[in-house]
Amino acid sequence: MSILISEKHGVNPSLEVCFICGEAMGVALFGHLTKPRAEAMHEAGLDVKPETDAEAPRKICRGAICDRCKEVMETGIFLVAIRDGEEGDNPYRTGKVVAITEDAVCKILEPGEILDAALEKRMLYVEESTWRAIGLDEAIPKGGAA
Ligand SMILES: [Zn+2]
Repeated sequence: MSILISEKHGVNPSLEVCFICGEAMGVALFGHLTKPRAEAMHEAGLDVKPETDAEAPRKICRGAICDRCKEVMETGIFLVAIRDGEEGDNPYRTGKVVAITEDAVCKILEPGEILDAALEKRMLYVEESTWRAIGLDEAIPKGGAA
């Protein structure tokens, strides 16, 4: 893949981060961003000005999952805390992530669509109020998710 170098921003790099844990996985190079592309990125909620030759966002998440999270997902399911009232594919995350076993998920959730989706996608968004009600904060070891 070749890129057109930006006059202002060179290779115009972004740190590509894991969809689950947000750890850096690599670098994405955008080079010269055309106006339509910059506008599309801006619309998608990325930190990009909707103009020709815009600077790439500092971080970008394109849905890729890091090896460590993939390994956890083989047996566990990630719970990702989101702000109450958030909806859609990319809700505002509050920064807490924990993985629990399939058995535990089946105990928390009633059988149905949400449980099926959690088992299939290996992750589930949990609103902060629910997160606290289930007592998930206590499930996180000091220093973050292990
Ligand atoms: Zn990860």
